[in-house]
Amino acid sequence: MFVFTFVHMKIKDLNQNRLLNPSMLYKFIEGKDLLSHLKILGTSVEARPIYAFSIGKGSNKILMWSQMHGNESTTTKALVDFWSFLKTDQAEDILKECTFLMIPQLNPDGSEAYTRLNANAIDLNRDFIDLSQPESRLLRKIYDDFKPNYCFNLHGQRTIFSAGKTPIPATVSFLAPSADLERSLTPARQLAMKLIVAANKKLQSYLPNAVGRYDDVFNINCAGDYFTAKGTPTVLFEAGHYTQDYKRKTSRKAVFDALIVMCEVISLGKIDSFSVNDYSKIPENHKNLRDIEIFNLKGTSKGVLSNKNTVFVQYKEELEDGAVVWSPAFDSLNEEHEGLNKINAENHSDLKNISVDFDEIKNITKMISLLSLHQ
Ligand SMILES: [Zn+2]
Repeated sequence: MFVFTFVHMKIKDLNQNRLLNPSMLYKFIEGKDLLSHLKILGTSVEARPIYAFSIGKGSNKILMWSQMHGNESTTTKALVDFWSFLKTDQAEDILKECTFLMIPQLNPDGSEAYTRLNANAIDLNRDFIDLSQPESRLLRKIYDDFKPNYCFNLHGQRTIFSAGKTPIPATVSFLAPSADLERSLTPARQLAMKLIVAANKKLQSYLPNAVGRYDDVFNINCAGDYFTAKGTPTVLFEAGHYTQDYKRKTSRKAVFDALIVMCEVISLGKIDSFSVNDYSKIPENHKNLRDIEIFNLKGTSKGVLSNKNTVFVQYKEELEDGAVVWSPAFDSLNEEHEGLNKINAENHSDLKNISVDFDEIKNITKMISLLSLHQ
């Protein structure tokens, strides 16, 4: 039984601009006057072109790819920003020392459909031994042909991740993936760790305590683990959340800055001036954050009241009619969670008059009253 009902309303994209499909990417690159540099390296399951861009003449070959997961577009924007930067005079020294091959959108079908998976519903980042998909086979072929000295694997993460067990969202997370089950500190892995330490030092200057580190359980079917096992230092980037920045402008800039720092360190041959020990000081990510926390809800007599009458709500993102629609949905009653936005029901004009049957709360998924938070 529902004790109260929220009117269902959906918000189109919340103006968050997370959707970056192939035609939007094309326009974005065109707008930055970079179109003439694009090459087509292969095609996706649905025969969409997979583009790449190369620049530089240096001996350090760096392979970068983004939107391997189609709904993770922030790092693609940062990658195009970086690509623009490489066309400026400021990047002259980097281009003497490095040669870049960049794939802005490895999964164009998933980017069109705003899904993590490709058109065959396969996670391309779990397909590096199976090689069952044209997109993962293409990345493996590019790796084999280009023989990179470094790989940068660019992703986005959900709002749930904090940097350590804190209420601070991980605005950027990194991982130097393992090369074996023992998680050995192989030479390649150590180099990836040092690059992360260098970037973290820069990011802490304006994102204090907001950089996280992913756990390093080994999975050879992941691109990063596979390439590290092959002896190529590989860095995983995850663009994340920052306070109310659902547009992810902050993490876009942070990833851009991290790319510059890492490439400068490589160009200057300064990678060994950073310490592997500092890598382990970066806090590990936790999954305790949720978009909205409503507290001080009134319970009914049969309700479960042990969690301080608090409900956690998470936005779900789905593509509808060419726009990403965000719908708030019930997430949990878990006291361990922490809301990025907190609403005191006692002070809320609608919520204060409502009695919640907590036994039935899992059925309540539509919470219109809360959406004004992000408008
Ligand atoms: Zn991803």
